[in-house]
Amino acid sequence: MTERPTGAQPASPAIYDRECVRCPRLAQFLRETRDHHPDYWARPVPSFGAPAPLILIVGLAPGMHGANRTGRPFTGDHAGILLYQTLYEFALASAAVATCAADGLQLLNTRIANAVKCVPPGNKPLPQEIRCCNAYLASELGELPTVRVYLALGRVAHDAVLMAKGLKRGDYPFGHAREYPLGADSWLLDSYHCSRYNTSTRRLTTEMFRQVVRRACTLAGLADV
Ligand code: SF4
Repeated sequence: MTERPTGAQPASPAIYDRECVRCPRLAQFLRETRDHHPDYWARPVPSFGAPAPLILIVGLAPGMHGANRTGRPFTGDHAGILLYQTLYEFALASAAVATCAADGLQLLNTRIANAVKCVPPGNKPLPQEIRCCNAYLASELGELPTVRVYLALGRVAHDAVLMAKGLKRGDYPFGHAREYPLGADSWLLDSYHCSRYNTSTRRLTTEMFRQVVRRACTLAGLADV
């Protein structure tokens, strides 16, 4: 049996099941991935970071050759480059580059989850898969009362946070750098996803992302740089 990658921070069984096969299409895709890449993690990818974070970053799903390979969100592929570089700049990560789950990188006041924990074909989860995995996200949100900012990377993540909190999508339209109060002491903050496509087309620039993370720090009550 494949062990959790060394260095991954533990997640509660209540919010993570490494043997989950509740989405048949994704479970089959993972089986095929393990056949083709026996050295890949190729399981549901657990959240990573501080156990009592002020900022919870929510992404879409593991990248095939990134998190799905290394077992840690946004680690080992292009999507993590801008993310970890910016988190490090704002003192939210101990290093600017994430290479593997054993690289020793730690997140500070920050945690990273995904809307969907298993890599989907073509990076496109089906609506029922997003709904199914939302039970884990909802459990995790329930166990993280310290979160002040939910930083959603992309529309799927934005909608997943709303679903997990039982809020209506129509009341919270997605838009880059939009922010919404969620109750008295927390916020939903949006960003375009830091994917290779978005960064290479400059839909999301380094400065745009830096401004969003700076705003997340401010809303969370953290001093920025
Ligand atoms: S996407 Fe989530 S609910 Fe679906 S099989 Fe993976 S861990 Fe389970």
